[in-house]
Amino acid sequence: MGEIVFGTIIRIALVIPIIWFSKEFIDFQFWWIVSMMIIYGVIIHPAVIHYRLFEEKNKDIIESTLCTSCKHFDKSAVLCIKYDKHPALDYLSCEGNDWEPKNMQLNTRDLSD
Ligand code: SF4
Repeated sequence: MGEIVFGTIIRIALVIPIIWFSKEFIDFQFWWIVSMMIIYGVIIHPAVIHYRLFEEKNKDIIESTLCTSCKHFDKSAVLCIKYDKHPALDYLSCEGNDWEPKNMQLNTRDLSD
């Protein structure tokens, strides 16, 4: 995920000056259209494609490992927050020892009833 963000930032850093300086050479009305096409084609579209590939590549890890139901798992980054490591289908950072269920909230009112 970090690669996608980093790549997008690099493309933004390259494209914005190019668009800005191209304003001098292209008619202003046409420049807006060209700018939007460049921004979509060079920044937005590749980021979306890379994110979809990232999701596809990590789909099994996100949906079918022990980490899927653990509160320490950040599925947007496919990362164990507790160990700061990426789990895999055949590797869990904690080997299952530190698994804690998501959304487990103890309601004290339920205990008193
Ligand atoms: S603590 Fe263990 S089960 Fe939970 S996300 Fe990390 S590696 Fe997965």
